[in-house]
Amino acid sequence: MKQRISNIQKIYKEGVRLLADAGIEEADIDAWYLLEHVSGLTRAAYYAHPDLELDEEQETAYFAHVRRRARRVPLQHITGEQEFMGYPFYVNEHVLIPRQDTELLVEEALGVLAHGMRILDMCTGSGCILLSLLKAGRERQHIEGLDGTGTDISPEALAVAEHNARRLLGGRRTEEEAGSFTFCRGDLFENTEGKYDLIVSNPPYIKTQDIKKLQKEVRCHDPYIALDGREDGLHYYRRIAAESTTHIADGGHLLFETGHDQAEAVCALLEQAGYEGIFVKKDLAGLDRVVGGSYNRTCTGQ
Ligand code: GLN
Repeated sequence: MKQRISNIQKIYKEGVRLLADAGIEEADIDAWYLLEHVSGLTRAAYYAHPDLELDEEQETAYFAHVRRRARRVPLQHITGEQEFMGYPFYVNEHVLIPRQDTELLVEEALGVLAHGMRILDMCTGSGCILLSLLKAGRERQHIEGLDGTGTDISPEALAVAEHNARRLLGGRRTEEEAGSFTFCRGDLFENTEGKYDLIVSNPPYIKTQDIKKLQKEVRCHDPYIALDGREDGLHYYRRIAAESTTHIADGGHLLFETGHDQAEAVCALLEQAGYEGIFVKKDLAGLDRVVGGSYNRTCTGQ
């Protein structure tokens, strides 16, 4: 029978070694999150009692998780969670794992949010953008009566978004309490209804030929359809910018996350579609990350 290690310090160190040997970059961090996931231990408890023992089931689970991580399964698919805007999001293989870069899009959107707005999150995936906007809009900015719609072509992704909505917004309460939300399946605007004051999207934007260059965790475990922006990476920006003009309210805002080298092209698409006040925001790394503009029918004559 395999000898157990049991002492948490030794277990953790063995986890770090296995992940480092497998070439996982942040082996110590990942090994820690997996230990926390199986044991519920805090770092403070770990340092205070390094000789604490895990029970056999937890130890077995820990090393099973470490082996999956060593095979490049993303940490978030093992723990089932990714924090975004300070909120915990459930994730699985059907949705893009929310990225920290995308928080900039939410911050910019929070900047234009106002009472009673209708918000559309195109390609919602886990729902991270829409749900953060509804929750932070209400709890941090005290904005009431928001109405959010998230669309995605993938029914499996929408099931994840619905799950996150129940978890974060506590089910369909009254509009005053939680803001109302709907998820609808469709090809972009296909099944959306009425006009929206704010349209946000982090669409798939990787050029098809670049997908093979991404790290294995992304290439093999994020959904392909969440990544693939077709030949020049701009397919969805092109469609959303053009199609949005019949779905956006007068004076409404359209905000995109873009790849670091796409802002100029996306600005041009917004301009072509008749948007005004077009701007680019850089992320913490100094890279172009968010492009936005507003739509004014009285000026465009539409
Ligand atoms: N809106 C989701 C996110 O930003 C999913 C994006 C996508 O699938 N391309 O995480």
